[in-house]
Amino acid sequence: MSGIDTLPPLREVISDHGLTARKSLGQNFLLDLNLTAKIARSAGDLTECDVLEIGPGPGGLTRGLLAEGARHVLAIEKDARCLAALAEIAAAYPGRLEVIEGDALAIDPLTHLTPPIKIAANLPYNVGTELLVRWLTPPTWPPFWETLTLMFQREVAERIVAQPGSKAYGRLAILAQWRTEAKIALSLPPQAFTPPPKVSSAVVHLAALKEPRYPADPKTLERVVAKAFNQRRKMLRAALKGLAPDLEDRLIASGIQPTDRAETVSLEQFCALARNVKAG
Ligand code: SAM
Repeated sequence: MSGIDTLPPLREVISDHGLTARKSLGQNFLLDLNLTAKIARSAGDLTECDVLEIGPGPGGLTRGLLAEGARHVLAIEKDARCLAALAEIAAAYPGRLEVIEGDALAIDPLTHLTPPIKIAANLPYNVGTELLVRWLTPPTWPPFWETLTLMFQREVAERIVAQPGSKAYGRLAILAQWRTEAKIALSLPPQAFTPPPKVSSAVVHLAALKEPRYPADPKTLERVVAKAFNQRRKMLRAALKGLAPDLEDRLIASGIQPTDRAETVSLEQFCALARNVKAG
């Protein structure tokens, strides 16, 4: 036996290294290795890939990623208490796990990684959303990663994959679906974590498209969508007031009725509007 099978159970790792969960670091650990293997599998075939993992903690998901055959895992962890546990995993998979201690929001991982690159993480929710937005808005497209497999609060996961006409549909859905194929891969109850958080969670899988789904200037699209959803209950002729002098004509040219509300406008229509506003 090698790899995952030679390492102690995670409960033991946690007690041996004194890893009592800290709320300030958003620590809700996954201790079931069947579950972490399942999450790793939902990231797709890892065998030819480098994987960037943010927030490995005691290493449950890290073990899953390595056991699933990831070529190289770069794990960035803020909590120095976790480093000894992660070093044991590195020893079980010689040359395949590199750990950096630090804040993922402040570290540029790129010099440590060779494409193709996949990202996988069970992160504190606030850090996860901030990183997701960053990863979806690089200066160029396609991005440095091929897929993102990320744990979110169920409600945030639903906002990422939401379709027009639903309450969850908004800026995050547009941002994610414009540039990726996004789906919920797995739902998890609070009891899957130690300690359990207050809400349910879900793993979202996002695969980068080669080109954004419809042409549009990113900044104009972001401006139009932000303005439209800022007053999501208003008709667009009111919510988008000031965007262009002949706003109603541009809405109609984009296939949108001036009396429509942001909630019912498709991604394709928002992209058309961004093009029509930019052209004017
Ligand atoms: N991945 C582990 C698991 O599934 O059991 C731990 C998950 S726990 C929800 C989040 C982890 O992210 C913790 O280990 C925490 O210390 C780490 N973390 C929190 N903020 C971070 C940051 N800004 N950069 C890197 N790691 C961070």
